[in-house]
Parts: sequence; structure tokens; C-alpha cells
Amino acid sequence: MKQLWIGGQWAKSSKSDVRSIINPATLEPVDEVTEGTPEDAHRASSVAAEAQPHWGKMPALERGKLLHDAARAMREDRAILSRLLTLEGGKPRIENLDEVEWCAACLEYYAEIARNSHGSSIPPVAEHQINFTIKEPLGVVAAIVPFNYPLLLLMWKIAPALAAGNTVVIKPSELTPLSTLRLAETCFGHFPKGVLNVVTGTGQGVGEPLVDDPNIACVAFTGSTAVGTRIAVRAAQHLKRVNLELGGIDPLIVFEDADVEVAAAGAAWARFLNAGQVCTSAKRIYVVEAIAKDFVARFVENAKAIKVGNGMDADTDMGPLISKVALERVEDQVERSVAAGAKILAGGARLSNAGPGYFHAPTVLTEVKESFPVVSEEVFGPIASIQVVKDADEAIKRAAKSEYGLGANIYTSNLSYAMRAMTEIKAGTFWVNDPLTDNDAAPFGGMRKSGMGRELGEEGLDAFRETKHVHIDYIPEKKGYWFPYKNRKAEMPDC
Ligand code: NAD
Repeated sequence: MKQLWIGGQWAKSSKSDVRSIINPATLEPVDEVTEGTPEDAHRASSVAAEAQPHWGKMPALERGKLLHDAARAMREDRAILSRLLTLEGGKPRIENLDEVEWCAACLEYYAEIARNSHGSSIPPVAEHQINFTIKEPLGVVAAIVPFNYPLLLLMWKIAPALAAGNTVVIKPSELTPLSTLRLAETCFGHFPKGVLNVVTGTGQGVGEPLVDDPNIACVAFTGSTAVGTRIAVRAAQHLKRVNLELGGIDPLIVFEDADVEVAAAGAAWARFLNAGQVCTSAKRIYVVEAIAKDFVARFVENAKAIKVGNGMDADTDMGPLISKVALERVEDQVERSVAAGAKILAGGARLSNAGPGYFHAPTVLTEVKESFPVVSEEVFGPIASIQVVKDADEAIKRAAKSEYGLGANIYTSNLSYAMRAMTEIKAGTFWVNDPLTDNDAAPFGGMRKSGMGRELGEEGLDAFRETKHVHIDYIPEKKGYWFPYKNRKAEMPDC
């Protein structure tokens, strides 16, 4: 049984409630964790608040060294971390090895850019004055994260937050807390006590109390648009900073000049990666009529070739969905879309021969309309919906029509198509011919209902800092514009 991680050590909860973590591939229990309480959340935030002043004043070089040590420890622990990620989340282990490596690289990036970070020197408004800005940490950051990339989405928050001098309280998804607890002990155990804390539990039991907690200066959240909206409303009551990375229904356009073989394989990967449980999955695929037949045939071939199974097997391409609720939601979205007229070209149902867990077949639907659930709702599962469009104009117009704005993908070598699509489509990331590639040095985030704020890049560091303007007059003297104003009578124009 795993306890909470508070003040650099394992800590008991104020209650004795326990949650069993279930392997979504085998339905076997992996381990048990403490179900944290509002009191536990406050205890962690208090410890983090106590640790923050010292951590915030530590030279960036020293904080950077500790972050580099954490990156090294992650790489050394990659076998166990990736195994835990697969056991609790179902993702193929090869993808989880990548996830651990990306986390280590992210730590290294922020260890270095925080050393290099600077404010600005500003021309003063009068003689013998100096003006400049300095960057200060916010205080204690609550990092609330989802199940699909438990460590990566956490690292995009805590690496910059810690590098900037904040301390953190982490609330992992209640479905995938084990890798985070392991990370805290084995990779951040060398940090000063209280700088990094983990409280496991539900959104209501731990997440909401953290949002309301007076010790928390900023809530960095990744998850659904519904929960993100709720957090934004709550945080507004305290005028608290929020960074929200939310849902998306990203488009992927295949124009008529695309290499169909590459585009079909790329689109299939972009849709079925992590069983479709990716915020930036290609959830609406538009293909131009002239190449549609060829593209759809190759896409279906790719979908049918995906090996579904337990993520611990080295030849598994796609694992299960995270839970029974998630599987049933996806089944319902497919059923309602088929009832509305969608045609199934591959899959279409859950898979019982892949194991006892929550497996769904990679599914390809055509003849879908924008109003069908598989297009109008975020489908967090392996369901590809393909829409054939007349030409590039129609493709761009339809791709751009969305309440969301997380990412967008296109396949083309036509500069005019690429530039028009880039201009018309609202999205935090726009990918051309290489879907879903992230870069630690480039900002990531959403527009519209996909969120606010940016992670990664310099923007991701600034998300966890305040800017202070410092004004210095190095010759103290009485100013002519102070009281009494009678001295300024001559300046008054006649009325
Ligand atoms: P979720 O919103 O259900 O949960 C996310 C986290 O919020 C969990 O830790 C949960 O316990 C917590 N939570 C739930 N209710 C809360 C509340 N009232 N107050 C505070 N915290 C609360 O999301 P999920 O099902 O874990 O993940 C899937 C969703 O996340 C999808 O919509 C997906 O698009 C989105 N997502 C977005 C990004 C991105 O970068 N934009 C990345 C990954 C996933």
C-alpha cells in the first residue's frame, strides 16, 4: 500500500480510506494507494508553503543541478517507471519508455533555461534613474493531471514550476497514481523537504480543496474541458492564476497532392496512438475527394494491422482503454453515430480476444456528418471518423469550424494550402506532414475551449513567474510634482 508523499517522506492520510489500482488490460489489482482527504491536501500545501521561500531564493544554478539529478534518476529508473505506467494505464511499454525519456529531457531543458532567464532593462523616465524587471516565483503550484500521460503532462508543469523557484503539490489522476509516487521517492527524493509533494485522491476529495486552498498561488491543470471550466470558476473566486490544458477535437486534412501511403500511416498513428486517448489525437479526418478512395483503403489497412493487447507484450501496438466507464462511453458514441448513418469499415466493437480488460477494436467510420457524436463530441478512444470533402477550400473551411482549438494537422507539400490552413484554423499547434510531434522548446496549449495559457518553451516558464518592475532613483531628492500643489499654479490653463 502506497502512502502520500509529503515533506520528503511517506505520510499517512487523516483517514484510512484505500483505493485499489486496477490494471486495465488484465483487470487485476496492481497496488493500493491512500485516498487523500481535504486535510491531507492542506497539510501538503502548508509544507510546500514553508519550503518555498528557501527554494525560491536558491541560485538557479543549484536548482538546475537538482533537476539534472532528477533527470538522471528517471533514466536510471526507466525500466520500473515504464512498467508501472503500463500496469496502471495500459499504454504499450515502448510508449512509456518514450514518455520517461521525454520527461528527463524536459527536466534538463528547464534546468538550463531557468539559469539563462532574464528580465529586461528599461529606459527610465528621468535622469539618475534605473528601471529593470525581475522574475519571481508565484509560490506554491498545484499540479492536477489526467491519466493518459501521467508523468509527461506532470513534468510539463513541475519542471518549469520548480526551475522558476516554486514548490509543488501534485494530484495525479486517481486511476494512475503509482508512477507519480515512485517518481517522487526515487527521482525527487534528494530535493529539499517539502519542495515536491504528492497527494493521491479524487477531484472532489483533493483537487477541489487544492483549488480553494489559500496556500496555493496557481493551479496548473490538464484534463477535460468540463473539469477545467469548473476549476476556472472556482479559482476566479480567489483571483488565483490558472493554466488550463483541456480537451480537443483536432482536425487532420489530407490534400490531393499528399503522399497517400505516408498520410494514411501517419493519420492512423495520430488517431490510434494510446488507443485514441490523446488530447491531440486526429479526431476529425478530412480527405479530398480525388484521393479519398485510395486513402480510405490504406487507412483501413493500417487500422486492421494494429496489434491490440496487453501493453507489457513487446509486440503490442495498442492497449486497452483506461476504464469500464471510458469503454462504455466510446461504445455509446459509436452506437449513436451508426444509428445516425455512419458506416463501419473496420472494428466497431469491443475486443474480447485481446484479454479480459477494456479493449476496443481500432474502428474506422465513414459517411459521418459533423453533427454525429463521433465528430461533435470528444471521442477518447480508438475511433477514426473520415469525411470526404470536395476540395481544399471545403477541407479548410470545415476543419476550421470548431469550438475547440488544441492542435491541427495537414498532409500537403502545397505551400498555398499549408499557409491558408495555418491562417484559417485556430489551434495552439499546427503540424504539417508530421503529426503530434512536440518540442520542449516550443509552446504547447489550446485556444477556445481547449484551454488558456501555454506549457513548454519560455512561455511555459513564464506561466509560473510574476514580473516585478524595479524603479531606482540613485540621487534621492524632493520632486517638484509632490505637495504642495500651489508650487505648480503656473501650470494651470484658464478654464
Ligand atoms: P478529467 O478532467 O476527468 O481529470 C483530470 C484530473 O482532474 C484528474 O486528476 C481528476 O481527478 C481531476 N479532477 C476531476 N474533477 C476535479 C475537480 N472538480 N477539481 C479538481 N480536480 C478535478 O480528465 P481525464 O479523463 O483524466 O483525461 C482526459 C481529458 O484530458 C480529455 O478531455 C483530454 O482531451 C484532456 N487532456 C488534455 C491535454 C492537453 O494538453 N490539452 C492532455 C491530455 C489530456
